Amino acid sequence: MNAPAASADVRRANLSLVLRHIEAHGPCARTEIAAATGLAHASVTAMVADLAERGLVRETGAGAPGGRGRPRRLLRVVHGRVWTVAVQVTHDMIRLRATDLSGATVHTEDTPHGAPFGDPGPVAREIGSTVARAVEQAGGAHLGLVVIAVPGAVINGKVGHAIGLGWRTTDLTALVAAQLPHVDCPIEVVNEANMAALAEYHALTAEGATHPDTVVYVTAHAGVGGCLLIGGRVHHGSHGMAGEVGHVPVSLDGPPCRCGSRGCLNTYLRLQALTRAAGIPEGTGGPAPAAARAELNRRLRAGDERARAALDTAGHALGAALLAVASVTDAGEAILGGHLADWAPWLMPGIDARLIGRRTAIEHVRFAVSTGVLGADATLAGVVHVGREQVLAMPAGVPMYTSMTMPTLPEAGA
Ligand SMILES: [Zn+2]
Repeated sequence: MNAPAASADVRRANLSLVLRHIEAHGPCARTEIAAATGLAHASVTAMVADLAERGLVRETGAGAPGGRGRPRRLLRVVHGRVWTVAVQVTHDMIRLRATDLSGATVHTEDTPHGAPFGDPGPVAREIGSTVARAVEQAGGAHLGLVVIAVPGAVINGKVGHAIGLGWRTTDLTALVAAQLPHVDCPIEVVNEANMAALAEYHALTAEGATHPDTVVYVTAHAGVGGCLLIGGRVHHGSHGMAGEVGHVPVSLDGPPCRCGSRGCLNTYLRLQALTRAAGIPEGTGGPAPAAARAELNRRLRAGDERARAALDTAGHALGAALLAVASVTDAGEAILGGHLADWAPWLMPGIDARLIGRRTAIEHVRFAVSTGVLGADATLAGVVHVGREQVLAMPAGVPMYTSMTMPTLPEAGA
């Protein structure tokens, strides 16, 4: 790397450092920022001037007098300056949540997409429309990033295979960008289970939990999704598919799977497999899987033997898959997400029965099974977290104001 490029990188990193400090500790004075970050006072002053020109920070009153008796001017982040748009594509809905720099929700929209199986075009058009409506609401705020979570593996920025939607190798970023010719911000596509895993990991940490180095996350809806977290970060693997436990074989001659194999975890744990095993007729309470799920939930809580037996069998299958993953990765914790968290009381006996060998054969080996706390909102919470982190890491991506573009920003969330 040549010297000017390196120096520009250092400046960008310092700009982010100062912004993050004000966000975490503001209102605060320049002297406090210099002391906490180790940057020279003159450097902090220059960084603050830059952030102020981008509309990201502003002075807010004065604090107690500093060393020379002058009042210290305090700084705070202007949360409304940048919006991040998080989008989740499910098998039937597009869920959008726009947040400001504090992470507070400023705009939300849930739209059924009704898209035909196998065609990403209508979904991309619907995403474009919902994002365009969010942009209209943003007013003078800068749109920092659009992050779209999909139920499929993401390989080199493209959706490699979304079995539930019937998509193969889809450049969703390009399809959505084509719908938004006037929106000039990065658009990223990410895997939904990875986002949910990150969100649950941080939510459990906020509740006081500590995690081992390697954690596996499993969730189940129309299919089974998973993620491998190492050191609190998503481990993508060679093809972006690490932690995808749905097609781990748990029996050699089990039911046929949509992937062409037999006995995959997916064939025991996905919602339709559970409701079928519980004896709930297809279409119970309406056509949506949510109705069958609610019926299974009701039967479990009512003590229905067949429903509980279905969950026990699924628990054994999940335990076998977790044993395989733990054996290969030396994971020390599994987090169950989505409705697996709700149904953990009926899954745990089977899981524990499969893991007992690993837990007792080797002294010091711990394998904890935790339940997520965010339910159906985990994916969007994760996307919001990732989007905010990226904006805080790259404040130089927010344009400078000129006297012509200075808007009036709402004070809410500031
Ligand atoms: Zn399979």
